Amino acid sequence: MIIPTIQPDEWLEGYRGRLSRLSDISVRVGVEPALRNFMAHRRDDTESPLSFIGMISMALGMPTSDIVLRHTLWPAQIAVDRTSDHEVIARRAADIDGKFMFSRPMRLQTWLCPRCAEDDLNHLPFSYWRRSHQLPGQLFCRDHGHELQFVPRSNHLVHLPHEHLGVATPSSTELLERMRRSVHVTRAMQISNAILEGQFIPSRGHCSAVLSRRAKALSMTADAAGRFPEVKDLVDQHIPRAWLKDAMPKVTARLESMAFVDHVFDTSLAGLSGVAIAVVAAMLYDDANGALKAMGADVPSKKRSAGPRAINLPQLAVSTPIAALP
Ligand SMILES: [Zn+2]
Repeated sequence: MIIPTIQPDEWLEGYRGRLSRLSDISVRVGVEPALRNFMAHRRDDTESPLSFIGMISMALGMPTSDIVLRHTLWPAQIAVDRTSDHEVIARRAADIDGKFMFSRPMRLQTWLCPRCAEDDLNHLPFSYWRRSHQLPGQLFCRDHGHELQFVPRSNHLVHLPHEHLGVATPSSTELLERMRRSVHVTRAMQISNAILEGQFIPSRGHCSAVLSRRAKALSMTADAAGRFPEVKDLVDQHIPRAWLKDAMPKVTARLESMAFVDHVFDTSLAGLSGVAIAVVAAMLYDDANGALKAMGADVPSKKRSAGPRAINLPQLAVSTPIAALP
């Protein structure tokens, strides 16, 4: 079995496909049993049955929380979960029951940047799926500014991004134009990206309280349930529906209108993503850093508002543990 080095910003779901392909693991056998067998041969004692995340972190010699925070979309979902403790995250992700929660995709399609795919092939023997491209609502590559393209979500992850070049679908020109023009969408994406990059882990209760206070400070009035209809109107006015559909596919399919806004203020309601918090924050603050700071992020200076700052986590110490078993 071959355990490839995980690349910077590589999406765990894509990595899993790359690993299956390198190790010639068929869909029928499945990657978990193969990995479990491999770990047993390596005599990595495991106390309990581990999820893919648990086993791969062991095989790569990386803390489980690093895998979750750097290679899954979990940080963008974390406001829903109300868990911000790294040890709790690691324990739950490693547990076999927690695997779906931590590795599920958030969008209906899988996204790639053609420039990234081409660049990869210039210095790697392969291209790989990036997590940042899978962030709901992300339509441009953060590195190249290039428009992202998508492929249907199916069993495609055993294929690498460059193998989809020429057949992947671009976003509609209209959507891209509207997104480019909207300062509110841009701000929401800056906040979302900062959350994803681990600048801080927001808690839903805290964000609800902060955003409610902010709305009141802007002379908005809450209804009996503590929700802010004016913020709903603002979202309706400034956020293109087509973009919202991509940013929150599950929410907008299930809920009528702008109901998700109520959910940001009312913690007793279920069905919220980190993106929802970002969209509401983008309505209440004039700049992304101001919003992030209010919500508890450690933001260095105003000059950095163009984008999220680099991840402030310890440097990855991943050697290339390529191992083969007979
Ligand atoms: Zn790119």
